[in-house]
Amino acid sequence: MIPFLDLKLINSPYETAFQEKMKSVLESGWYILGNEVKEFEANFASYCGTQYCIGVGNGLDALVLIFKGYIQLGLLQKGDEVIVSANTYIASILAILQSDLIPVLVEPKLETFNINTDLIVTNISSKTKAILVVHLYGKLAEMDSINEIAEAHNLIVIEDAAQAHGAFFETESQKAKAKIGNAQAFSFYPGKNLGALGDGGAITTNDEALAKVLFSLRNYGSETKYYNDYVGVNSRLDELQAAFLNAKLPNLDLDNEKRRVIAKRYLSEIKNEKIILPQWDFSTSHVFHLFVIRTEKRADLQNYLLENGIQSMIHYPVPPHKQKALKQWNNLSFPITEKIHDTVLSLPISPVLTSGEVDVIISVLNKY
Ligand SMILES: *Cc1c(COP(=O)(O)O)cnc(C)c1O
Repeated sequence: MIPFLDLKLINSPYETAFQEKMKSVLESGWYILGNEVKEFEANFASYCGTQYCIGVGNGLDALVLIFKGYIQLGLLQKGDEVIVSANTYIASILAILQSDLIPVLVEPKLETFNINTDLIVTNISSKTKAILVVHLYGKLAEMDSINEIAEAHNLIVIEDAAQAHGAFFETESQKAKAKIGNAQAFSFYPGKNLGALGDGGAITTNDEALAKVLFSLRNYGSETKYYNDYVGVNSRLDELQAAFLNAKLPNLDLDNEKRRVIAKRYLSEIKNEKIILPQWDFSTSHVFHLFVIRTEKRADLQNYLLENGIQSMIHYPVPPHKQKALKQWNNLSFPITEKIHDTVLSLPISPVLTSGEVDVIISVLNKY
């Protein structure tokens, strides 16, 4: 069986490094917001090319804290509208709701799975104050036009980068001209491109005022112990998880490159009329958190793959507006989003997938 994702194999090269980190954290006697978190925040900010990185408990909290930070700064207010793509993972939408803001769902483009920038403009109202951009499956959304629209309408641009670690920074020239939003949220859930051995998250930004509020908000709204400036939360990046992430971060670019090598092979060698391959022109940044194909008879293809020893997954089977949790939206219609959720299938892709396994997956798909 070719597993969809073998986390044990992904982490096994780090076994010795993890044990050394574990030992040093244990012996330090300092288990919350210690040197490993400080070091990771410095390392990740430098990796992302941002001035600040704030380690938090998970990716959802990273998003919620960004919104709460802007509310604290007076730049967002309860009831403001936030534009977000309708086909995102539900966390993006929950973060907006949990911050007392109003999500305005916008259709994606069928070809890119990312927000249709033409539709952003038509959905802007007098209450729109921010855009939450999701770089779905690891493919960068159209940041140039999004930033242009944001500038014209005075909107804050927040990025859900939970599936896109390293997507901005493939080459030095891309790094130089990368146009990023006001703040980015990352998740280090074990299955992400940079994954911990438990929950973890981070926020990156160049905004000094926002960073200052966030360092405090994640820690009870307190800068000095037992003195509270804000109604904060407890969402700190765990010291041990930070230590593990410090061990893994140096390999992130190489891991992403391995994903791209597999994606290139899938794109050039899968030849089957029943399968629609994802769009990638090789030049735009893509870190292939997921390799997502589309097909009309998905259940049939998924069964066929399983019969041939290949696990696949669906990201995601139900769009947010059709979820029970969001009953108020169940009658809304987003045809492109619904089509995506009805037809997508994710093939195995990860830094530990062997070229032999890729051969098998390609040949099985070509015989379908
Ligand atoms: C994983 C993910 C999140 C949430 O991250 P957690 O660490 O699980 O809270 C948010 N948005 C997207 C797009 C994700 O894929």
